[in-house]
Amino acid sequence: MSHEDADVVKIRSFVTKCLESVGTLVEFTAYNYAEVLIPDEFINHFDGENYYKLAFDFDVARRHEEAEFVTYGSYFLDKVIDLANQRGLTCKRHIIDETIELRNLPQKIASKVTFRNQRMNFVANSPVLYHYLLFSFKVSYVSDEREDQIIKLLVNLNTGHVDNRMLESIGSAFFTDNPHTNYGAENMQSVDYAYKVATEALEEQIQHRIHEIQNKIKIRLIGEKNRITEYYDQIDNELKLKFEKLNERENKEGINTINDKLRLSMIERQRRLKEIEEKNALNAYITLFNATLISQTKIRNKYNVKKGKTERDIYVVWNPVLKDVEPLICEICGTETFDVDLCSSSHLGCIECVSLCSICGTRICKSCGTLSECHVCGVFLCDRCKYVCENCGDILCKDHIESCTCKAEKRRNQQEAEMRKKEEHILEFQKNPLSLSKSVKQYMDKYVRKNIDSLDEDWKKALVKLQSALTVEDKIKAREILSELDEKYPDNACIKARLVLTYERFSSRLMSLSRHAVSIAPQLALSHTAYGYMLQKRGELNFDQTIDEYEKVIRLAGDDEINLKTNAHYQIGKMLQDYMNDWWEARRRLEMALEIDPNFQLAHQALNNLKALMRGRYRL
Ligand SMILES: [Zn+2]
Ligand SMILES: [Zn+2]
Ligand SMILES: [Zn+2]
Ligand SMILES: [Zn+2]
Ligand SMILES: [Zn+2]
Repeated sequence: MSHEDADVVKIRSFVTKCLESVGTLVEFTAYNYAEVLIPDEFINHFDGENYYKLAFDFDVARRHEEAEFVTYGSYFLDKVIDLANQRGLTCKRHIIDETIELRNLPQKIASKVTFRNQRMNFVANSPVLYHYLLFSFKVSYVSDEREDQIIKLLVNLNTGHVDNRMLESIGSAFFTDNPHTNYGAENMQSVDYAYKVATEALEEQIQHRIHEIQNKIKIRLIGEKNRITEYYDQIDNELKLKFEKLNERENKEGINTINDKLRLSMIERQRRLKEIEEKNALNAYITLFNATLISQTKIRNKYNVKKGKTERDIYVVWNPVLKDVEPLICEICGTETFDVDLCSSSHLGCIECVSLCSICGTRICKSCGTLSECHVCGVFLCDRCKYVCENCGDILCKDHIESCTCKAEKRRNQQEAEMRKKEEHILEFQKNPLSLSKSVKQYMDKYVRKNIDSLDEDWKKALVKLQSALTVEDKIKAREILSELDEKYPDNACIKARLVLTYERFSSRLMSLSRHAVSIAPQLALSHTAYGYMLQKRGELNFDQTIDEYEKVIRLAGDDEINLKTNAHYQIGKMLQDYMNDWWEARRRLEMALEIDPNFQLAHQALNNLKALMRGRYRL
């Protein structure tokens, strides 16, 4: 290129630089031939057109008649020189300041920014320079076809965030290259950082377009692959027909040739399919072609935020172009927010980053430390308010130190073991040596369960002795044991009734014992037997009541209490005969007793006597 015309080089470089400085996309698609895309805010300068083809030397201009020939005195070069004169070739621009009523700002800010639990006092406001970096990227999506896209990204250099709202508004803002301000400038993020933020946002933005193009490619690929497949299928079919014919004629040489051709066809088919896929693979190329530093005067409002001992200054920014408050930046996670809180060490955070200890109210942010949760009730705890279970290491609040889940489990196991032990103990006492009817056994089992704490080894020993005394019908010994049991242990209807039945005589003490037995166990035939027995022994004229008790015995006695039942019939029969002279009914009762127990000797005797008496009477 050393023989290039020096003027052409100079003009080409000037025009390219100047156009790019205002954000124009300049692309040389051929030698000295460029296509340019002018940003919307400058198209008025170029007769409202945003797309031009430029030729930088005479030969190129002749070959591309549709292109603007850019040379000395040409229309397009004049326009560019004009633009350069107006703007200079700078990449620094300042948004022309607006006048603002500063007094109204605190009110507008208060309605937008929420401070959790802190008092926010306005101190003062002043104009300060804030900065943006506007990046212009060219994104080329290249596959079988090519598509270019210009994407602009505006990064707020003070917050480090992409600002889409400001990007929209910037198009209608007025700029100057000389701000003439002596305002101080707010701290800025580095350009490297801003570039990183911009490229990350860009990558996210182009995903949607990439997806769309990929879908389009997929559809196109299916069509092209079908065409290739159909083409080779047709060739293969023809070859196969020939193969059949040669096979009939047993032409070995011919068959080999066809086989070779089929193999080649397969290789060719696969090569074409692979080729078409490679040709359609999508690549995205990104070029940064312009970056402009934009400054803007904003109003910085100073606030003093206070809560208890915690206190600090906070700046809230008013953006005159947006006519709005800018979001605050969480110092912990970096998100933009209008809902902020201060931790107890004065860090400014979003509500996700600052939490409250439920016990002492200390505010902890994620950079100061973390709050724990009580494993039992889930409240948040700071390090000073948390307890650690010495048994399992779980975190607990002070209300739950003693009720850690591990301890609760231990206690439950203990309780269960105790229950099991008690149950074994009860079973041991329920196994007694007395021969008992079913209903009495049931009563005794319930008695043991209810009074297990009052029973001891003596109780068990006494029952063994009682059984042997009962076996040999030693009433005196049995009475002695029963009396002791009745005195020493909680009231037991069975003991009381048995005790009463060891006596031959009436006494008011025995009467009260038997009455007591009935009141404790009104469903036991044994209790009523004892009571009936005492009423009978008292021998007063209340036979009805006595008979009534024996009737209850008959009704309540179980199948294994035949002796109680037959005795009751017998006693009723005797009373009817001796005191009421109702011989027929007396006879029926004695017969009923014998019907149940034919070996009941006393009843036999009594029945014989009664029959003799009846015979005597009717003979008279
Ligand atoms: Zn945060
Ligand atoms: Zn605490
Ligand atoms: Zn903190
Ligand atoms: Zn708790
Ligand atoms: Zn524990």
